[in-house]
Order: sequence, then C-alpha cells, then structure tokens
Amino acid sequence: MKLDATGEAVSELRIRLAGFGGLLPGDTFDGDVADSVKQFEKDVMKRAETGIVDAAFALALDKFAADWPIDVEGQLACPCVTKKRLQGCSGFGKGQFKGEYSPKYAKSRDEAGHKYEYPGIHRSLLWAARALMFYATVDHKDEIRFLKFSSGYRCHKDNEAHSRTSTNHMGKAVDIQFSHGDGGKWIVADEAQTMKDSNAMRDVAIARMRAQTNWTDPDLFSLEPGGKAKKGSKEAHAPTWVHMDVRKWSAGDRDDSYFTETTSGLEGTPFVRLLAGPGSFQTAKAK
Ligand SMILES: [Zn+2]
Ligand SMILES: [Zn+2]
Repeated sequence: MKLDATGEAVSELRIRLAGFGGLLPGDTFDGDVADSVKQFEKDVMKRAETGIVDAAFALALDKFAADWPIDVEGQLACPCVTKKRLQGCSGFGKGQFKGEYSPKYAKSRDEAGHKYEYPGIHRSLLWAARALMFYATVDHKDEIRFLKFSSGYRCHKDNEAHSRTSTNHMGKAVDIQFSHGDGGKWIVADEAQTMKDSNAMRDVAIARMRAQTNWTDPDLFSLEPGGKAKKGSKEAHAPTWVHMDVRKWSAGDRDDSYFTETTSGLEGTPFVRLLAGPGSFQTAKAK
C-alpha cells in the first residue's frame, strides 16, 4: 500500500499513525501519510524509510499497539462512574448538548466552549498518547516514563460536582502523568522535577507529533502550557502533567465516528488483517 491508495486500511492507518507527525484523519494516502509511514519506519521499525506499507509494516504497527496498551474503559472513563453513575452517564457522558456552547462562546461558537459530550474519546488522540509513551523511552530513556492518565473523560455532571467549567475533557482531551527514573527505580518525583519532566514531554510532543502549545493554529494537537497559572487567572495550565487535545481540529476531523468508548473500538481490526483483506484498499492510478 502506498501513495494514492484509498479504503478502510488507509483511514485506519491515518488514525493509528496520528502520533507520528500529527497526522489528521481522512481516507487518502497522501504525502502526509507517506511522511508518517517513514517516521514510523525510522523510529519504531529501525528500517530504511520507504513510505510503503507492507506486511512487515503491518506487523510492526500491531506490535506497537500491543507494546503500549490502553484500557479505555478502565483508564479513561468519567470518574463520576467510580462513585456512582451520575444521571445516566455511561462513563463517556450521554451525548448531550451537541451544537450548544457555554455563554462565553455563544457568539463565536468556538470549540473551546462546545458543550457536546462526544461519544467516547478521539481515537487519534489515544493513538498519539501511545506514541508519546513510546517516544518517552526514546528521548528520555531511564529518566521519564508513562505513569497514568490522570484525566480522561469528564461529563457535565462530573464537572458540576467539581465546580469545573471546561468542556475539553468531554472526549477531546487526555491528561498524562509521568514517573521519574531515579537510579534504576521509577518514582513519583517532587513537584519541581515533575514540572521539568512534564515540560520535557511537551517538547517531545512538539517535536514528534507537531503539537502546539495553546490553541493558535488549526489542525494541530494542542498542549496546555506548563508552569502555574497566575493567582486568580482562569487560564488553563498543566504544571505537573501533559494535557493534549484535538480542540483545534476541524469539525469533520472530530466526527462522532472517530470516538470510542471501548478498548476494542480503539484497537479496531488488526492491521495485518486489514492490509490483507479484500477491498481493504485500492491503489488509485496516479493522476
Ligand atoms: Zn460522568
Ligand atoms: Zn486537561
């Protein structure tokens, strides 16, 4: 499978390689996909960059998923569930408020204030989180590694219970915490070290998946800035964790079909099967 191919294998590839260059969803094998394929070949497979998806690539992509497991129901469901499901929250909201905005964004209809409880968490975001786990071991081996998701989904009822107003965590965002390598042991370091490590991991996301700090440009992963917000400020900061979201992706790239409430939905069909399956992709004639 290579340039100009289309079909299910291609749309799955675009989701699963999101953490390799910040690839957006879609259904064409364009130059961006070829670049992401090359990045994966170089960094994960350690083979020469060809930009071509073959059987060995498919095997490596499935192994990458297995090496960095994510338990969607167990690690990312709304915390209101662990207490008591609040007013019908499935663990991923209940699909309320599509097209409704918080007062501050009523006019602009900016996604920042979109009250929609998306049906799960965006798969591209989770595949990118997986790449962040992987790149921690490449760029900060023995120093920084994935500890846990400190926030996944948070529904409106959970927000109310905690006097929060952010709508980011209704499927568009995850917060990740890292542990620190201390002479061969992995520890939860003090605040100063954890802030340093979180900044280092933001730099990894910027370098490896073209993430941006803040929400300036469209079509990029966004990171909340590190450091602490000034007292009394309502600015969002992520001092001791990494907050990453798809808020600046276009509405089409945030289609309901890209969200999942389950681990099996996150994984999808093994790529080896997708690549081999009849009709999984077509090689279009170059124009
Ligand atoms: Zn909830
Ligand atoms: Zn967050």
